[in-house]
Amino acid sequence: MIQHPAFKVEEWSVRETKLHLDVLAQTESIFALSNGHIGLRGNLDEGEPHGLPGSYLNSVYELHPLPYAESAYGNPESGQTIINVTNGKLIRLNVEDEPFDIRYGTIHSHERELDLRNGVLRRSVCWTSPAGQTVKVTSTRLVSFTQRAIAAINYEVEPVDTPMRIVLQSELVANEEISTKQDDPRAASTITKQLVSEENHAKGMLGLLIHHTQESGLRIGAAMDHVIEGPEEMAVDADSSHDIARLTVTAQVKPGEKIRIVKFIAYGWSSLRSRPAIHDQVIAALSAARLTGWEGLLAEQRAYLNAFWGRSDVEIEGDPQIQQAVRFALFHVLQAGARGEHRPIPAKGLTGPGYDGHTFWDTEIFVLPVLTFTQPSVVADALYWRYSILDQARERARLLGLKGATFPWRTIAGEECSGYWPASVAAFHINADIAYAVVHYVGATNDLKFEQEVGLPLLVETARLWRSLGCEDAEGKFRIDGVTGPDEYSALADNNVYTNLMAQLNLRAAAEAVERHPKAAHKLNVKDEEVKSWLSAAENMLLPYDKRLKVTPQDENFTKHEVWDFSQTKKDDYPLFLHYHYVHLYRKQVVKQADLVLAMQLFSSAFSAELKARNFAYYEPLTVRDSSLSASTQAVLAAEVGHLQLAYDYLGEAALMDLYNLEHNTQDGLHMASLAGSWTALVAGLGGLRCQDGSLTFAPHLSKGITRLVFRICFKGRCLLVEIKPGEASYRLLDGDPLQTWHHGQKITLSTKEATTRPIPPIKAGAPPRQPAGRAPAHREAVYDSSSGSSNSMS
Ligand code: BGC
Repeated sequence: MIQHPAFKVEEWSVRETKLHLDVLAQTESIFALSNGHIGLRGNLDEGEPHGLPGSYLNSVYELHPLPYAESAYGNPESGQTIINVTNGKLIRLNVEDEPFDIRYGTIHSHERELDLRNGVLRRSVCWTSPAGQTVKVTSTRLVSFTQRAIAAINYEVEPVDTPMRIVLQSELVANEEISTKQDDPRAASTITKQLVSEENHAKGMLGLLIHHTQESGLRIGAAMDHVIEGPEEMAVDADSSHDIARLTVTAQVKPGEKIRIVKFIAYGWSSLRSRPAIHDQVIAALSAARLTGWEGLLAEQRAYLNAFWGRSDVEIEGDPQIQQAVRFALFHVLQAGARGEHRPIPAKGLTGPGYDGHTFWDTEIFVLPVLTFTQPSVVADALYWRYSILDQARERARLLGLKGATFPWRTIAGEECSGYWPASVAAFHINADIAYAVVHYVGATNDLKFEQEVGLPLLVETARLWRSLGCEDAEGKFRIDGVTGPDEYSALADNNVYTNLMAQLNLRAAAEAVERHPKAAHKLNVKDEEVKSWLSAAENMLLPYDKRLKVTPQDENFTKHEVWDFSQTKKDDYPLFLHYHYVHLYRKQVVKQADLVLAMQLFSSAFSAELKARNFAYYEPLTVRDSSLSASTQAVLAAEVGHLQLAYDYLGEAALMDLYNLEHNTQDGLHMASLAGSWTALVAGLGGLRCQDGSLTFAPHLSKGITRLVFRICFKGRCLLVEIKPGEASYRLLDGDPLQTWHHGQKITLSTKEATTRPIPPIKAGAPPRQPAGRAPAHREAVYDSSSGSSNSMS
């Protein structure tokens, strides 16, 4: 485990008190700012040194060929990769003759703080140049939640003890050099195609660059405007060339004086709009931001986050490190989607180029369920994006000889971008995952307008897919053969239980939505016979059970396979997919990530309490967690079956995935599913929240390290507050009409008038399960040393 050596544990901030260049790329991801439309990695203002420069616009990508050694029917020929667009963050500083570069001279102090309440990244540095001049530099950066095209920086520099000549260069730079070639398939492809310049302009305080991509046909505009304060005599020049627009400010500055630059940056892009239209779009966005002003943008940011935290905050007593981690997680999950507006939420958000910036099922199963309870409008937007790529998914289904729609396993713009079909095309569950997110969102919001316009077509086309993919066997059971479930170490399996339960939900939900929206269904050409066939497939869905072992097999044959020889697997052989050929993995009982266990979380009522306990005990020793999409699910089920310490350990892993760089790849971007999973591990795990058929139920149990857990959730237009202490739980509505819910199976009605408090019944767990050797989660003990400001909670 690599802990960042200098993150302090604070309730509302992630603060780095010393710059460590060896973890620079990791901190660039941690300190990334985004609003779901723009994403800026936490690169230093002066641009260098950097781990990985990154400025992203949601859905701006370049195409690259997907070559195959042996071609096959239906393989996608072209991939899509997120690109580093024009960098608007740059403010270079020259102190007398020396560029401000922290690799030279002396750093007296260097602090960065991601402020989760104000939504800004602050930096303050005191530096002496090699020639002996000392300056104080402070900057505050934001990507606006309220003005989606806008980022802004307040940059100040002041001499400490001697007068000096200071030159500041505020820039837009396109086609920055990046070296990325890595062997890890989770990293990004290297795109060598440069952006092509179309316009550059610099005058007065303004600078502007317009480029287009070579293959994907996208036009990108970036512009900057400035407000500058400083000594009376200041020279300001602007210049530009193809890939740079620059504003240069020069002044002789005395101690006690400073130069302050407020830089407004606007981004716009389009596949349709002309160069003049993009030009005007970014200039207009700048003009609105300038009118709002720096203080105004800060106030808007704060107000937006106040509203968010007011209905979504999670408070924890007993473990300040988890407190910090869950707020950090919620902040980034919000950032990933807040202003995406009909665009996807990628697996890394807009924090880095990992996984090529693709969106996977991570969004629908891990991220959207959290946002459904915390910022529901974002969910409708993200699902609208799925709706917007429905035609590509229909086309893909036709190509594959299937009915309805087949959504891509990974994509940016809608086309399948995976060349490895056993873990992509065959992972058909993505289609039902989308249906699940629709059902979950509609169940939690009653948004019937959304259901009719967006949900219904998604449900209908995916139901059609399942009907055509599966078939009835001799006993009349509906089988779905040759698919890959969530566990990517078992491919092309028959009747993966997770997939079949999901398909069942999808088929039934489509039928119910058709009944609610008959006219809209008619337009989709849905016939009664078709609906009947969905319902019959759902009714007869094959859900295998192993009578000998008395457990649910992950798929029909899973429990018959040889168990992976964990005793011969060295610690360094994980993740297994980087050290073993799939020919070995696919034939053995070894689980990459929660699969059947995830089915038990999402379909709680499909398994008895006893079966859940037996299944959990069976899968724990087989699950290696080679994916960050596992720990949160294991936390939820561990808590449900009573292994509260284990739940706490898994919670720690999910919550600290990026702050501690547990998967060693935080430098490529944050793990959105795991960040969202830390909320799920707390709220669905320790809080015992389940949401099925439009109802909420709670079955809380705290683990020892957490002495009080408070969370808020949005549900059907209300905000609920749940407070859990060791012996009791209280529920209260913060607004809205009374709501019926369940506490450990007991019906309760919540209102705004008073809290309903109920005792928490004791829970008895079986023998603690074992994990594969060396793969148990780190044991978590909340021992907090407030004097050092650091927590040593994991051992
Ligand atoms: C996991 C997938 C996940 C992908 C992107 C893989 O390692 O196995 O389930 O969708 O990462 O996060």
